[in-house]
Amino acid sequence: MGVSIAISWSRRGEAGDDDAAELMAMGRATALTRELASGVLGLLYPPHCYLCGVPLEESFVCPDCYRRLPRPQPPWCARCGAPVEEPEVDLCLECATRPWFFDRARSFGFYAGGLAELIRGLKYGGERALAWELARYLLQAGDELLPRIEALTFVPMSRPKLRERGFNQAELLAQELGKLADLPPVSALVKVRQTEDQTGLGPGERFKNISGAFAPYGKTSLQRGLLIDDVYTTGATAEECARALLEGGFQEVYVLTVARSRPRVPKFKVPGSRFRNLELANLEPGTDLLRGAVQGG
Ligand SMILES: [Zn+2]
Ligand SMILES: [Zn+2]
Repeated sequence: MGVSIAISWSRRGEAGDDDAAELMAMGRATALTRELASGVLGLLYPPHCYLCGVPLEESFVCPDCYRRLPRPQPPWCARCGAPVEEPEVDLCLECATRPWFFDRARSFGFYAGGLAELIRGLKYGGERALAWELARYLLQAGDELLPRIEALTFVPMSRPKLRERGFNQAELLAQELGKLADLPPVSALVKVRQTEDQTGLGPGERFKNISGAFAPYGKTSLQRGLLIDDVYTTGATAEECARALLEGGFQEVYVLTVARSRPRVPKFKVPGSRFRNLELANLEPGTDLLRGAVQGG
């Protein structure tokens, strides 16, 4: 069975090189990962909480550990989902000063404590079954976004990296979420350039490192897409993927991640009231509102 899956994947891969648009039209994530995921989920269905070890029957995290997962509390930024200090402020300082290609980003929790442990278990520990648990968190965090979208997609991985890790955690998450939301994921992006590991890079370096790394698989008639990833750190990856999705024909791109890093500056105020109630639709990428504010006094 393993052999037949590998062959069918290899054929799809070759077809993708020859006719990316057709693959996009086929529009479904690779059979290999999907079948591996369902097989592994069956094998590793756990009898214990992944975080504290108490016996469990139906999930990977017990109710106590679940309650301790670090979650953002409202108010948060209407665009990127970062916590903001005052409920009447729509946008965080970053979003008020540098608009994004994506329309909105949301995360289930912060990359800390048990949630970071679960993500590391999936990503580096090879515990693919944790995608089942984390997809349930995505479903919760995506309640505002999922009704708006037509297609789920995910941050792609380069082929060398995929060979090294054996799976793309963002794709696994999208597949598990797809089952819950009845929206099979589409492979809408390819990674066209190798990038340095973003870990350890500063915010500016992350944006530079990831710039031009993704391209659309082909043209799509889908309008509204939801990009799935494990962690949102500076937004650099989400931004670059959103740019490529728009280039591929999407009109609106939303972003949903399991976790986001805690804000570097936990408390900030948007100066005065000039950024309140901004119409998000009027913000063009490249608009420098902060400079405008400073120059305008
Ligand atoms: Zn537990
Ligand atoms: Zn924001």
